[in-house]
Amino acid sequence: MKTPEPADSQFAPSIPDPLSPLFATQPQLAVPLSYLRTVDGVLQIGGKSMQQIADLLSQQRFYAYDRQAISMKIHQLRSKMPAQLKLHYAIKANPYLPVVQHVGTLVDGFDVASQGELLLALQTGMQALQISFAGPGKTDTELLAAMTAGCCVHVESAGELQRLCGIATQSGQTATIALRVNPEFELKAAGMKMAGGAKAFGIDQQQVFELLPKLAAMPVKLVGFHLYCGSQNLQAEAILQTQQQIIHLLQQLLPLCPASLQFVNLGGGLGVPYYTSDRAVDLELLAAGWTQLFEQLPADLQHLEFILELGRYLVAEAGVYACKVVDIKQSHAQTFVVCNGGMHHHLANSGNFGQVIRRNYPVAFADKLDQPLVAPVQVAGPLCTPLDVLADKIQLPQAAVGDWFVVFQSGAYGATASPQAFLGHGAVAEILL
Ligand SMILES: *Cc1c(COP(=O)(O)O)cnc(C)c1O
Repeated sequence: MKTPEPADSQFAPSIPDPLSPLFATQPQLAVPLSYLRTVDGVLQIGGKSMQQIADLLSQQRFYAYDRQAISMKIHQLRSKMPAQLKLHYAIKANPYLPVVQHVGTLVDGFDVASQGELLLALQTGMQALQISFAGPGKTDTELLAAMTAGCCVHVESAGELQRLCGIATQSGQTATIALRVNPEFELKAAGMKMAGGAKAFGIDQQQVFELLPKLAAMPVKLVGFHLYCGSQNLQAEAILQTQQQIIHLLQQLLPLCPASLQFVNLGGGLGVPYYTSDRAVDLELLAAGWTQLFEQLPADLQHLEFILELGRYLVAEAGVYACKVVDIKQSHAQTFVVCNGGMHHHLANSGNFGQVIRRNYPVAFADKLDQPLVAPVQVAGPLCTPLDVLADKIQLPQAAVGDWFVVFQSGAYGATASPQAFLGHGAVAEILL
């Protein structure tokens, strides 16, 4: 396990500041982008301009992730976390190996949701016991692989438990497991709710009570519980309230467990600001809430390790998607800026990855961050579908063919969450600098 560096490490002076050059020159991007740097109006990722990155990659469309921005973000969070609270990274947010490898040096464990992610996690050198495998629909092959690797299987249903027991018996192993609980309560204000009511995720609270007394007779070792209630939540109060409810539920579950538990995964759900109306999670409020939570922790829970599992919060703000303007055209008095990349590389930005209403991500011309904004334009990608929107009615500086167009907050749910084969334009490159 890694110990976080103290808060006064080299990254501390760069903690988000709403007066950073980027924020100040792009007032319409009312989200803090100051994890990234600019030099004379030119965006830098790992100290390189978009053109320099393109030259490095020999690619005209790419995701670029800033190593220091990831470190900064994680240090900033860890400096607010009490010692009993551990941090896991949910690999699905960004499974690009160099990113996973880097994040792995800054967190205590990984959460994986497929055999592919499991293999990735193992190959970073992360200890198997710090890797948890959750997710519905795990196949027998995946269960066997997880058990063989020695990682913790987060069981999502009674049927899955039964299959796991069969595989354990057959292969002469004992499976290390956690039960993922679908609690009666839900996470308020979450962008995506994943608990409370009928869900594909976790075992209904009531069924867990019935299952626990039967575990002693099964070839499994229960080491924890997992409660993941939702995603993309910007409300510290709602997150804290859910964590309180989890602790309350645990007190009822613990006496029924066959052996002493090791951990409780509290989920996470901390969101990042994507849209103008979004405000970053209030870390001070979270920190104060956590201090209180752990000070008042019931005696029977004090031996437990608590885990926060986060995906986008750790990496989203460290990445941009970059593509180039290839055409500028007028249609019915509207200006269209047409780029060589779009929704096939960045589905979420096009508004088709779970959003109810499409809103613009923060975007810019990467080399014109200090130039004045002109009349609003439409920014479109190269796909033959009206869904391929990069930005709608957005004010940008005067566009020119060859400009680098960038979408910020793109370090999570980008390349692997997009239909890259759609229309045959080719896959997108990635780089961590
Ligand atoms: C997707 C997922 C996460 C990560 O979600 P973010 O919104 O990226 O933080 C964490 N845990 C589980 C179980 C998930 O399914």
